[in-house]
Amino acid sequence: MEIKFYNTLTKQKENFIPLNIGEAKIYSCGPTVYKNATIGNMRTNIFQDVLRRVLKYNGYKLKHVMNITDVGHLVSDGDEGEDKMLKSAREENKSPLEIAEYYTKLFFNDLDALNIEKPEIICKATDHINEMLEYVKKLIANGYAYETSTAIYFDVSKLDKYGILSGINLDEQKSGARVEVDKEKKNPYDFALWIKAPENHLMKWDSPWGPSYPGWHIECSAMSSKYLGEQFDIHTGGIDLIPTHHENEIAQSKGACGKIPARYWMHGEYLLINGGKMSKSLGNVYLLEDIIKRGYNPLVYRLFSYSCHYRNKLNFTWEGIDAASKSLERLKEGYKKHLTGEDNINKEIVDEFEKRFHEAINDDLNMPLAMGVVWEVIRYEKKSKQLADLLLKFDTVLGLKIDEENQKEEIPEEITNLLEQRQKAREDKNWAESDKLRDLIKEKGYLVKDGKDGATVEKIK
Ligand code: AMP
Ligand code: ZN
Repeated sequence: MEIKFYNTLTKQKENFIPLNIGEAKIYSCGPTVYKNATIGNMRTNIFQDVLRRVLKYNGYKLKHVMNITDVGHLVSDGDEGEDKMLKSAREENKSPLEIAEYYTKLFFNDLDALNIEKPEIICKATDHINEMLEYVKKLIANGYAYETSTAIYFDVSKLDKYGILSGINLDEQKSGARVEVDKEKKNPYDFALWIKAPENHLMKWDSPWGPSYPGWHIECSAMSSKYLGEQFDIHTGGIDLIPTHHENEIAQSKGACGKIPARYWMHGEYLLINGGKMSKSLGNVYLLEDIIKRGYNPLVYRLFSYSCHYRNKLNFTWEGIDAASKSLERLKEGYKKHLTGEDNINKEIVDEFEKRFHEAINDDLNMPLAMGVVWEVIRYEKKSKQLADLLLKFDTVLGLKIDEENQKEEIPEEITNLLEQRQKAREDKNWAESDKLRDLIKEKGYLVKDGKDGATVEKIK
């Protein structure tokens, strides 16, 4: 069955035709690890995960690369302001490395909780300084970059066209409309590839231009070409990346090898909070942890995100989360009813449901439409294992773990007894004994998790 994606580059839905038959090469701009990821960030990650799962559903083998930006992303997405990593390190009184490690770990915890698959390759910017340096040298050699007293800039006037993703017309832009930080820039839209480090700058590397550090955009060009080649299939990110970051990635790639790096550019729309922007000053920045703290299964947020197409704005409200929570319960119950059902269903009916679900996901990841089919299957009056199996197949795309409860293993009596003894020790405030029992349980292959309703155990995998 054909797959159609909306391509930001051509502004239309197109049939997906990969460069290599049966394989999809994808690059996703990953997080800048200087602060907690918000549920807005996670919406973009869920969209990317659904893309992966839909391609797999269609039998594709994946090579998906995601970078971790741990240097070079300045406070503005352009060339102004401090490096986000350094700002955060200063504010939290930690080293940039500590900041990067801490927030990278939290980011992956969130992905895990949302059942988001890890891309095949995860690469850190600071591990690819050499590749970036070589890329900049190549751009200079090809005549696309120049040096000023503060940086190496990309010269956008050397391109046949700059701005093909966002459709900006440079001729119509009033010259000097942007306030320049560097008067030596030749054109207002020239951007920094490599930045010369001030004296006390913490993150810097030797280069032909003295101690310096990479710009944010060069990271993605250097890493995508290293792992996926000069051209690959799909490039993804949030919608905010279109006008600067992705435009500049395309410019770099055209300067280095004359090609637009990806054939399909897919962008996820923003999550709004109560109809407006999520911002610190409004005090409405929500993390996945906030949803979990209110007692919801994090996968409720995943299901909530399917209420809207990834290219539309999604409005977050707690009422919406509550409704999604009830829906998740109903999905699981509906699945269980089919699992134990004994009715026999005509194969054509099962196939028709499958076809409609498949068509929906292949139509530019239309999850609201796909969920409509899921609910029809759940509500189908005859209850049958055939439909339970079909729902499990759908769940390879939904990622909602609808059969989680049926998968839970029995906890051995010995472990339950030890857990009870530990509970008693805790009531007696005998912390040493409690810790000893926790270690013993761990030795036996189970992890103790303390929650507000007491302790539970989980098998260590
Ligand atoms: P930030 O941490 O703000 O730099 O965001 C990292 C990436 O997450 C951005 O480039 C966006 O693509 C995405 N993102 C940020 N905020 C939202 C939001 N409210 N909704 C959806 N995606 C977002
Ligand atoms: Zn990027």
